[in-house]
Amino acid sequence: MSEPVTMMAAPIRLDYVFTPGVAQSTNLHGLERGVFIGQRCPKCQKVYTPSRGSCPVDGVPTEEIVELPNTGTVTTYCVVNVPFAGQAIEIPYICAQILLDGANISFMALIQEIPLAEIRMGLRVEAVWVEPEDLGPTMASVRYFRPNGEPDAAFETYKEYL
Ligand SMILES: [Zn+2]
Repeated sequence: MSEPVTMMAAPIRLDYVFTPGVAQSTNLHGLERGVFIGQRCPKCQKVYTPSRGSCPVDGVPTEEIVELPNTGTVTTYCVVNVPFAGQAIEIPYICAQILLDGANISFMALIQEIPLAEIRMGLRVEAVWVEPEDLGPTMASVRYFRPNGEPDAAFETYKEYL
């Protein structure tokens, strides 16, 4: 007697074209030049990167463009030990929330060039970009972040971004 089917693998593929809006395009063109772009809220002065074009707190357009530096702080992190489908990096590796200097929101990025046991909150890092000829309008232009050798940031400087 045959067993009932309880599971089946059905690989799927979805091709699509992404059309970014004005704010996202500004950010993507920055990445194409190897520069992080933020937008400042005229009311609360917070800088969002990437910006969605408006401040989520004040509901007003964030039209001022701000070029952000290549450096930031690890606010929190995780060490990925679990394999999953489509994984592009050999485990274990570190994913961290990076708060760029001058920004008021963090984003997730890969951390490399540091032993796993040394990753920590407050670690100062810098972006490592792909070669200039490989830059494109994508976060893939940033290969990863690595320690930049500066002393760790004080907890008070990033505690509001956890
Ligand atoms: Zn605001």
